[in-house]
Amino acid sequence: MTESSALSAAPSAAGRDAVLKFYFGPMDCGKSTLALQLNYNHGRQGRRGLVLTKHDRSGGPKVTSRIGLGLEAIEVEDGLDLVALVTAHDRIDYLICDEACFYSVEQIEQLADLVDEHRVDVYAFGLASDFRSVMFPAAQRLFELADEVSRLQVEVLCWCGRPGQLNARVVGGVMARTGEQVVIGDTNASPVRYQVLCRRHHRAGDLGEPLRGL
Ligand SMILES: [Zn+2]
Repeated sequence: MTESSALSAAPSAAGRDAVLKFYFGPMDCGKSTLALQLNYNHGRQGRRGLVLTKHDRSGGPKVTSRIGLGLEAIEVEDGLDLVALVTAHDRIDYLICDEACFYSVEQIEQLADLVDEHRVDVYAFGLASDFRSVMFPAAQRLFELADEVSRLQVEVLCWCGRPGQLNARVVGGVMARTGEQVVIGDTNASPVRYQVLCRRHHRAGDLGEPLRGL
């Protein structure tokens, strides 16, 4: 785990290679909180950054965390060219890419280009796998390309007390095994919700006694 090195803002990438880092974990593990903290720390060092997100829980172009922090962000639409986005700005030292699992594979390639050709540090955050425990294509590409990959495990537990590793999609009280890879849930308008489970209970489809029949 390299949380401490993420939080201590690195000096300018001038004089060293820029880095592509991917922090992954299930929902509620503190990804967005760490993204916001990282942005704050880098900003205090006088570094200039952009904050990107896609499908944030707020439903708008913002990075919000469940503990109540929030920041305006750029929504990564399908087809947005991230190299063009960054080079259109005066000088960008780093990018915070929240919900990077939902970006396109092409956009992940663009992040690597920004690191290698434009010396922009990229800190990407996201889920590794979908509700079936199958890896998102963008997350897979990040695993393949990143200089550093870290699993975040911030006290998110399965109902049984084991560390939560996987997100289950729950529709009508039942764990779904099939369906679209991306469905926004946990909003008032949606019948879909997500629940973090340990591997054992994700594979068994066991949502725990108190939640059965909801
Ligand atoms: Zn469990």
